[in-house]
Amino acid sequence: MNLILLGAQGSGKGTQSARLAREFGLVPCASGDMLREAMARGTPSGELARPYYDRGDLVPDDVIIQMILERINSLSGSQGIILDGFPRNLVQAEALDLALARMGQRIAQAIYLEAPRALLLDRLSGRYICRAHGHVYNSKTNPPKVAGVCDIDGSELFQRVDDTGPAIEKRLDIFFAETLPLTEYYARQGKLIAVDGAQSIEEVNRQILAKLNTIRQ
Ligand code: AMP
Repeated sequence: MNLILLGAQGSGKGTQSARLAREFGLVPCASGDMLREAMARGTPSGELARPYYDRGDLVPDDVIIQMILERINSLSGSQGIILDGFPRNLVQAEALDLALARMGQRIAQAIYLEAPRALLLDRLSGRYICRAHGHVYNSKTNPPKVAGVCDIDGSELFQRVDDTGPAIEKRLDIFFAETLPLTEYYARQGKLIAVDGAQSIEEVNRQILAKLNTIRQ
């Protein structure tokens, strides 16, 4: 079963993706994490992506599509993947469908986490990530036990460059203009599940599982 999580920055995709991956034995595949890893390692695609990333712009489609498809190819034999952050526009969604069809696979469901812009901005401005493994905290809603330190691995917490200043607004603008239309794309294929992402982590997870189960019966 291959799933997609759609939602703006701060809608809770990363958190829900980790849960669903555990619950269904899926391999999480987060395009933002892959880019951060490529930039940290200084790979050619990482260097190409860096200026776009820092400004909060989308990285060119060919770069990200190649990166994701390579990852998907390397996962053949797994129980399925859960995509978080990809696709982000129609070109990427069509490339994904085509590549999966060539492998005899398909997207089962696309889960859209809906949340109002004011809530997203609020969540993003308080978001901190751990250096070692990317564990996510929020200074208001989910603070670490010791400020600035990850509860799980003790590494330093930092704010992403693109979670501060004008880059946040730009990333949300791009989401609503380019990514939101994908809800229509997957609705037309009868694959869209929409959940209110403003609820607690537990409640969002519960509703996703309930809707997935209804569809799978
Ligand atoms: P995220 O961690 O998903 O918020 O992604 C962080 C940044 O990585 C985005 O603002 C883009 O610059 C880049 N990025 C991640 N996924 C994609 C994608 N599917 N297409 C283009 N750029 C992406």
